[in-house]
Amino acid sequence: MQLYLIPAPSSVVPRNGFTRADAEVIFRDEPTLPREAYRLEIGGSIVVTASSSAGRFYALQTLSQIRFQCGQNLPNLYLEDAPRFAYRAFMIDSCRHFVPVPELKKMISVCAKMKLNVFHWHLTDDQGWRPEIGAFPELIGKSSLRHGNHFGREQDNRIHAGYYTRAQMEEIVSFAHENRMTVVPEIDMPGHASALLHAIPSLSCGGKRVAIKTKPGIFGDILCAGREETYETLFRILDEICAIFPDPYIHLGGDEAPKAQWKQCPACQAMIRRENLAGEEALQGYFINRVRDYLVTKGKTVVTWNESLNSGILRDDVTVQMWLDPTKRCKNSPNPLIVSDFSHWYADYPYAMTPLKKVYRYDPMINENVVGTDIPIWTEYITTPSHMEYMCFPRFMAAAETAWSMNKPPYRVFRTELSELMPYFGVRYAAPEEDWDPPVGKRLSGTVRHFGTICPNRGVRNFFFHHENKKK
Ligand SMILES: [Zn+2]
Repeated sequence: MQLYLIPAPSSVVPRNGFTRADAEVIFRDEPTLPREAYRLEIGGSIVVTASSSAGRFYALQTLSQIRFQCGQNLPNLYLEDAPRFAYRAFMIDSCRHFVPVPELKKMISVCAKMKLNVFHWHLTDDQGWRPEIGAFPELIGKSSLRHGNHFGREQDNRIHAGYYTRAQMEEIVSFAHENRMTVVPEIDMPGHASALLHAIPSLSCGGKRVAIKTKPGIFGDILCAGREETYETLFRILDEICAIFPDPYIHLGGDEAPKAQWKQCPACQAMIRRENLAGEEALQGYFINRVRDYLVTKGKTVVTWNESLNSGILRDDVTVQMWLDPTKRCKNSPNPLIVSDFSHWYADYPYAMTPLKKVYRYDPMINENVVGTDIPIWTEYITTPSHMEYMCFPRFMAAAETAWSMNKPPYRVFRTELSELMPYFGVRYAAPEEDWDPPVGKRLSGTVRHFGTICPNRGVRNFFFHHENKKK
């Protein structure tokens, strides 16, 4: 019989006969197997062979998919499997719109079923600070709420608030661990820091209070890299983050940090002279390296978005997350790489712009330093859990197939499997099949509609909608 498995295992050898679905599962240790690898043998009994609890967990995920489609009688088989990448992430932005704990758990459990193993949690940004930090209660006191939403079509002046208590973050970590998933918290610096600067104004170059942003975009208010107080404060925040998040990686952001304020700031300029740096971009390299040096003493590995490579001095052991690399700096760097190419893998873009096929066919091997992948969902325009699920599923399944499988099938096979297995993943609001790969006309109109939606200007939006409606 035809078996559908997502992600595809390395090899499956069918054997004659069937085994009852409730047959005993026997676990065998095989220390020579890689940590997440496993073997699954169905034939009279069900035998799982692995070297770790992670391998056993993935074997049981596969077994569960087989049970889902085969009912009482499982086809006898011998299956071997191991992941392509060690780092298989998905990212949720909890800042632009707050994502409640139950929805995070839902996302984690669905993603674990497709053998993703890293939850990258975007916790701080210009529009909100979400993690409770005991040493600085003003962070959530002042910066976990904003007055208004001005995200394209969403325009209001209501209060939008939300934060995670330490206990809630620990609950997420332990839930993720039960699902054999590590958690990578992201504390964005030196840019995307308006919420931090709103609570602690003395960390900005001018020392003035900065407003929490109610719009999307890139903002000039960034952390002062010339003041010792900035580093001391970040280290105290990171001390608590490290205590809450025990896994190896900490993400420092490092993206989209305009340098205009650093150019004018006496402290930043003095730091450039003191450290003999080539300019403001190099100052960001110094900044990230210095925080990296601190975190290394705590046994952590640092991740940063690819803009930190622009400094030319980023330490080689910092893992770089590539989202946009027109100058091929990532491709030519010696750093370990996580790939999240925005035009193929940003799940907040509509299916019209990033159809399922485009996600599936993307090859992340930009060089031999790629250690993994990460599919993000940014939430500027994602306001509800149902909308998030619609955008993520099934595109996350396509990303998971790329991240896990060393035997990735052709797209048409994957699509057939997905049609069969979608109910298995238990996503209530997944995109319906007709939306996965829109025809050309719908791709064009959907792209226009997207830019109409995100455009705050009513006149321009009406122009787009006017043309859109004429087509119908
Ligand atoms: Zn400064």
